[in-house]
Amino acid sequence: MPSIDLHVHSTASDGLDTPSELISSAAAIGLRIVALVDHDTLSGIPEARDSAASHDIELIPGTELSVEHGERKMHLLVYFLEPGPGPLQDRLHGLRNGRDLRNRAMVEKLRGLGYGITMGDVLAHAHGQSVGRPHIADALAANGLVPDRDTAFDDLLADGGPAYVERERLTAIDAIALARASGAVPVIAHPLTTGSRVPLRSSDWAELLRDLTDAGLGGIEAYYPQHNQRERDRFAEIARALGIAATGGSDYHGEGARRNRLGVGFGDLNVPLSAVDELIAQRR
Ligand code: AMP
Ligand code: FE
Ligand code: FE
Ligand code: ZN
Repeated sequence: MPSIDLHVHSTASDGLDTPSELISSAAAIGLRIVALVDHDTLSGIPEARDSAASHDIELIPGTELSVEHGERKMHLLVYFLEPGPGPLQDRLHGLRNGRDLRNRAMVEKLRGLGYGITMGDVLAHAHGQSVGRPHIADALAANGLVPDRDTAFDDLLADGGPAYVERERLTAIDAIALARASGAVPVIAHPLTTGSRVPLRSSDWAELLRDLTDAGLGGIEAYYPQHNQRERDRFAEIARALGIAATGGSDYHGEGARRNRLGVGFGDLNVPLSAVDELIAQRR
């Protein structure tokens, strides 16, 4: 059984479990270290931290950002980012505003396509600061317009889908610099599920990761449910060669939200404890 999970979401963004429910579930399956990385917000951290203290779990505070690098779009995990003022912390509010504008535009687009939901319907499915496409998906499902979240993404909401609208993103380079200036460690999330209009050959990966590491990247999320064992090993090896951390986590969003389960992903995830030591070594 794994003892750590460095990628979980709560109701502060698009997870279905509250921060304390998450921590209770983590304790129940024997996790010792959990990183809460809600999209564009740290608002779940205080509750998660309180709950972690009472369950003898170590909580790593963080967030997950959507960034761009040239033509490429990717997610960036930011670890050891403390709630409160700071260079990156101060930007999160603006990023959530960008979400709001994008969400409204997507609701308009959906209405134009004959899916009669309102922004009120969407907000009724959000329970925290950071609202996004999963909540739009839930509103569509609750109104009987699609069978479930996944279908809403497949048919309408996925990148490039009929109802998709782009939102403001930081560049990867700026986000990495802001994270470092805030005393945090930026890590590239699930590199193989990174949305990209440019096909990624392996030689491109080496160059991309080298450039981002030069800019301050502190790790690669090698251990991820959607990566097979070969891919996990390969990204861990690349991280080692670059002198940065090989991290991992389940990307759990709640039972039923997606197939990823807390701690174990699709059942075969076992993030090594060394991931945390490597992350700590990346703090400057
Ligand atoms: P947003 O940040 O609002 O653009 O929404 C992106 C989020 O939607 C991701 O972080 C995932 O949690 C979720 N997501 C992306 N693709 C899918 C999918 N195919 N099915 C369900 N959830 C998805
Ligand atoms: Fe998410
Ligand atoms: Fe992600
Ligand atoms: Zn995530």
